[in-house]
Amino acid sequence: MRIDIVTIFPAMVRGPLSEGIVARAIAKGLLDVGVHDLRDFTTDRHRVVDDMPFGGGPGMVLKPEPLFAAVEAIVGPGEAGRPAIVLTSPDGERLTHGVAKRLAARDHIVILCGRYEGVDERVREHLATETISIGDYVLSGGELPALVIVDAVARLVPGVVGDEASVSGDTFARDGLLDFPQYTRPAEFRGFGVPPVLLSGHHAEIERWRRAQALERTRRHRPDLLRDS
Ligand code: SAH
Repeated sequence: MRIDIVTIFPAMVRGPLSEGIVARAIAKGLLDVGVHDLRDFTTDRHRVVDDMPFGGGPGMVLKPEPLFAAVEAIVGPGEAGRPAIVLTSPDGERLTHGVAKRLAARDHIVILCGRYEGVDERVREHLATETISIGDYVLSGGELPALVIVDAVARLVPGVVGDEASVSGDTFARDGLLDFPQYTRPAEFRGFGVPPVLLSGHHAEIERWRRAQALERTRRHRPDLLRDS
């Protein structure tokens, strides 16, 4: 799978890609991530990527030409099948486990990072194939959302997370429920114990307890997940 990220702050994106599971996936050749400086796709001497909004108002808007040029350079004319072109935006479709799964099935994703007041609307209308928000709050740019998308999608690519069961048991993945609580050694810490069933070695009982905990947590913290399923 290949993911390309278009940004005016490439260094901000490269750092997090060089650590942890995503870095390992890249090293193993399971994932190929390209980071592109939007300014490389400008044609003027000052490498301008933004301009004032038509109609007035505060702030600047990312111009359409460099974004179109970037995508056209990234998506080779010979590429079979159109890649997913994802525009990051707080008014997009909310990123969920389901959306991450849908994206993980694609061979190629291009993520466009907005900045300032946002992106010329023609990018959404005529270039992006989807618009994704990572939550109901406004960030100052699409770089963190792009990294969140890459991380969530990469975990779902077969082989990226060493133990496949670890992904299928995660919150949201397991029947749309939250994950059960986890404990590790020591069995007693500052007088706080762990649920005895986990030390019993009785696998069926442990499984029952975990399932009940997952259900109970979901009921308490995210009843909407039970209603939606
Ligand atoms: N004026 C815009 C906000 C622009 S924020 C509005 O009110 O909708 C600048 C850029 O940050 C956006 O273009 C987008 O790329 C990114 N961004 C901010 N919050 C985001 C979120 N919750 N999810 C995804 N991208 C976000």
